[in-house]
Amino acid sequence: MTLVSGRSAIPPTRVHEMDAVVVGAGGAGLYAALELKQELGLEARIGVISKLYPSRSHTGAAQGGVCAALGNTEEDHWEWHWFDTVKGGDYLVDQDAAEVMCHDAVETIINLEHLGLPFDRTPDGLINQRRFGGHTRNYGEGPVRRSCFAADRTGHAILQTLFQQCIRHDVTFFDEYQVLDLALPQGSGGPVTGVIALETATTELHAFRAKAVLFATGGYGKIFKVTSNAHTLTGDGMAIPYRRGLPLEDMEFFQFHPTGMYRLGFLLSEAMRGEGGFLVNDRGERFMERYAPTMKDLASRDVISRSIYLEIAEGRGIGGKDYVHLDVRHLGADVLNTKLPDMSGFIRTYFGLEPLTDLVPIQPTAHYAMGGVPTDIDGRVLADATGAIVPGFYAAGEVACVSVHGANRLGTNSLLDILVFGRRAGKKMAAELADLSQPVADAGAEVSVQTRISGLLAGTDGERPAVIRSELQEVMFLKCGVYRTEQLLAECRDEVAGLRERAQHLLVDDKGCRYNTDLGEALELGFLLDCAEATVESALARTETRGGHAREDFPERDDANWLKHTFATRDPASGAMSMAYKPVTITEFQPKPRTY
Ligand SMILES: Cc1cc2nc3c(=O)[nH]c(=O)nc-3n(C[C@H](O)[C@H](O)[C@H](O)COP(=O)(O)OP(=O)(O)OC[C@H]3O[C@@H](n4cnc5c(N)ncnc54)[C@H](O)[C@@H]3O)c2cc1C
Repeated sequence: MTLVSGRSAIPPTRVHEMDAVVVGAGGAGLYAALELKQELGLEARIGVISKLYPSRSHTGAAQGGVCAALGNTEEDHWEWHWFDTVKGGDYLVDQDAAEVMCHDAVETIINLEHLGLPFDRTPDGLINQRRFGGHTRNYGEGPVRRSCFAADRTGHAILQTLFQQCIRHDVTFFDEYQVLDLALPQGSGGPVTGVIALETATTELHAFRAKAVLFATGGYGKIFKVTSNAHTLTGDGMAIPYRRGLPLEDMEFFQFHPTGMYRLGFLLSEAMRGEGGFLVNDRGERFMERYAPTMKDLASRDVISRSIYLEIAEGRGIGGKDYVHLDVRHLGADVLNTKLPDMSGFIRTYFGLEPLTDLVPIQPTAHYAMGGVPTDIDGRVLADATGAIVPGFYAAGEVACVSVHGANRLGTNSLLDILVFGRRAGKKMAAELADLSQPVADAGAEVSVQTRISGLLAGTDGERPAVIRSELQEVMFLKCGVYRTEQLLAECRDEVAGLRERAQHLLVDDKGCRYNTDLGEALELGFLLDCAEATVESALARTETRGGHAREDFPERDDANWLKHTFATRDPASGAMSMAYKPVTITEFQPKPRTY
């Protein structure tokens, strides 16, 4: 291993010229890359840059399903799905965007089937469908079967299918390259002309020059202590534009999924309740019947997570502790082993419990970012709350906020979002490529990345990134979690600011150039801290309770003042934060009180 301790700069930047680059090889990135190749032809130079080997992307961990109103097992209509999405998002959803998603869902699923995705089937050979939270028939009358699935490994099947298609279409992959900055030679207004990435295997820097760049880097659940998210979900793709003065939208809305495995946070898919499982408290009561008389255990996730906390707060957690039980015993061996095999395996492996005979301890777990990089319905990144576009810059998937999920996402709508908008972004990039500027270098960004890395490698004292990261996760979970107050959030803001200060002096133990994951984690910590800052500031600003953002001091939804999206921006020169607001697009469904 080469030692680089004390050296003043890492090796010179290597340059790659591409037509378009996609950052991230989850479902959103791969579908976009495939679409680019299909639109532009095999000779187009399309690069997918991913800090993970593509098949390790978090999409592969998605379990329960992807929804579309196919109506294969009972009557369904995409308009019902559209309504459910708007209501599920507590009316903060941009209804034009949700209309596109729910309408395009049907064709997208059929296209995936044609690409080779092995969905579960009904006895007569159609794609099978199951129930999921908040998906209803006839505008709220009761649950409907809308989620298409491949056992409880739906994301795995999507990821493998798209990865194989990308290979077949000659997409160029740069695996295990971590993107650290955007090329924005003329400042935050754009155009974006490429990215700068660190190759994990060698610690070399690479500059990718391209006319169009798509960020599809996934979420940032690792800011919280208990989370379903993979270790790599550190919000890089949100923090990078934010550092360059671009806004992040609706960051206060982070979804806590009701059924995380107690203390571990690993997800037990909502499909367990979709197939008939239910929650019980210490007295053995099915408490969701009280909070959501119609949908019960299939109410929206924000409603269920809050109900669990209320049960715990009123002393009905199991043994007075901070968890409740999921009961799936009655589902029987056939359903557990064929439709929910991975979930049943998790329960056996991690808890040593038998789902056929034992109750399963669960608690809400940080799961999904509704907010992110603001885009239009074609994945084009917005420069501000007026809707100005940053030329050459696109985002899709969990990193983006279109906004189709508003204040709370419905189960199985995320896989749908990444597919519909990943594909649309790819199409738009292909269409706009000819009109975009020639890629040019951003020498300032390249030097700044080099300086950051050299500084981290040269340091001989300071704090280890893991220490600051776990303090961050603890404070965010306790003070910016399911329930929030002005006081908790203000404390959280100060503590995050203190952690940001401490993170100026990090000790990276590994000084080598081969697979220096120590360095990678130090860089990721910076991204996590930026995402945490934007989340807390946005949560402080929003003085109402809506969807995933529950303020104990402002317990009601306030449509008169807050039917608008938050745009959090940090001035790169002064570091000052500011908030701007963009009205919600309402086309069809007027906001109503939400009951399930
Ligand atoms: C356990 C679990 C179960 C879920 N189940 C469901 C479900 O059943 N249905 C549903 O609809 N949703 C589900 N979700 C949510 C859904 O899976 C995700 O929102 C979705 O897969 C995100 O896809 P993506 O393409 O945006 O990003 P990801 O699949 O997260 O991929 C991100 C990609 O970006 C790359 N990347 C990140 N940072 C960088 C960087 N700096 N440089 C280069 N590359 C980078 C990574 O390598 C990766 O390839 C689940 C989520 C979890 C965590």
